[in-house]
Amino acid sequence: MTSKAASHKPGTGPIQISETQLQARIHEIAAQIRSDYEGKQPHLICVLNGAFMFHADLVRAVDMPLTVDFLQTSSYGDAKQSSGEVKLVKDLNFPLSGRHVVLVEDIVDTGITMHYLLQYLEGRGPASLKVAALLSKPSRRRVEVPVDYLGFTIPDAFVYGYGLDRSQLDRNLPFITSQE
Ligand code: 5GP
Repeated sequence: MTSKAASHKPGTGPIQISETQLQARIHEIAAQIRSDYEGKQPHLICVLNGAFMFHADLVRAVDMPLTVDFLQTSSYGDAKQSSGEVKLVKDLNFPLSGRHVVLVEDIVDTGITMHYLLQYLEGRGPASLKVAALLSKPSRRRVEVPVDYLGFTIPDAFVYGYGLDRSQLDRNLPFITSQE
């Protein structure tokens, strides 16, 4: 049987973050989390779908007793612009009361999704609440949101790979890339 080799080819756009760069930064963030939550048991919530790879690598790198949960907001679909409306399409499985929550997001763009999620999670009474985001596009911000652990600040361009999709494809690229 012939199988088409996976391309794993980066785009030719200006934003390129290699697998090595991603992993190095994730290990730095993990060390910071480990030190900030010493003696505690953080609860790392993954925002599906985009953050699944970042979350998986981050929780392994943190290497301390922790718990995880997952939620999902309505996504852009195949569009590249936020509708400005956020909807929760998959709720948490565990209560947050008394937990030290770290919300793990792929990218903060306008900030609308993060703002919505922080309000939602605050309302569920966590002991503390922080945000880890792999990427941030500050020039696109419409709502200011705190990002306690940030991977990379990037300019305004559409990026994909490493969990982030391009029309639902390319989430499996091990790096972040962008189109021309
Ligand atoms: P916000 O609500 O901050 O405008 O958007 C957050 C969500 O939009 C992210 O979680 C992500 O799903 C999506 N998003 C924003 N910018 C990009 C991008 O450059 N590429 C991809 N694939 N998704 C993006």
